[in-house]
Amino acid sequence: MFANSAFVSAPERLVVRGGSRHLLRFKVRYGVYQNPTAGLVLIDTGYGSRVTEGPDRSLPLRLYARLLRPKLVEEHQPARVLDRLGASTADVAAIVLTHFHADHVAALRLFPKAKIYARAAVLARIRARSRFANLRHGIFDELLPQDLTSRIVDIDQLPVRPAPHELGEGADLFGDGETLAVDLPGHAEGHFGICFAGLPVPLLYAVDAQWCAAALAPGKAPGLPASLIASDRRALAASTRRVAAFVENGGDVLLCHDPSESPYDLPGAPE
Ligand SMILES: [Zn+2]
Repeated sequence: MFANSAFVSAPERLVVRGGSRHLLRFKVRYGVYQNPTAGLVLIDTGYGSRVTEGPDRSLPLRLYARLLRPKLVEEHQPARVLDRLGASTADVAAIVLTHFHADHVAALRLFPKAKIYARAAVLARIRARSRFANLRHGIFDELLPQDLTSRIVDIDQLPVRPAPHELGEGADLFGDGETLAVDLPGHAEGHFGICFAGLPVPLLYAVDAQWCAAALAPGKAPGLPASLIASDRRALAASTRRVAAFVENGGDVLLCHDPSESPYDLPGAPE
């Protein structure tokens, strides 16, 4: 189930080649689900108030928030969503971090005890770089708790299993073969998606492989300036094709920012 932490408005043509000037309201999803082995799991955390109004924000983070102007959806902030599910932030046992961009890590501090499933090598590179060098990668280190490294479960050390519909291999996050971390490089360092392999129709949460489902069609991926933001344009194109092939083979796909309603969305977010 996916909650929508915020809306961000941008013209369609920025994210779909040949798109219109119309403003679309993009979502900023994060996943919440109960895994029989791992317990209550989040997939990323979405945007939170640390990005939009944290009083101790750095100047670059203030500028970033001003530029993108994310509008937080209060009812879908993690504490509220967990409350609706009869749980609290303290019940979250694990958070899967698909990458370290601000809209995926902003609420990490709400979960000081959760295990973090992520790429240890990417976090090590972030920790070794200067704040300025991280900004060039779209990463605000002030959003990452100090003890993050010690809480990491390195997905690169986990056993891999084949994902359905010829998606390739994925790291088996919880040892039950049902939640596979599948590499989708290009958008950000170490970016990966999550394949829910045990569903009747397997779902690939492809996170930021594209912003909009329409951009998965051949020739529809956006050009400049969106492609400039990507960490590796060629890898991004290959990941886009991989996601599109999964859909062609009968899988379902969900993107973090796609503006349309999805059957995987938690109901009740204001339009
Ligand atoms: Zn991202």
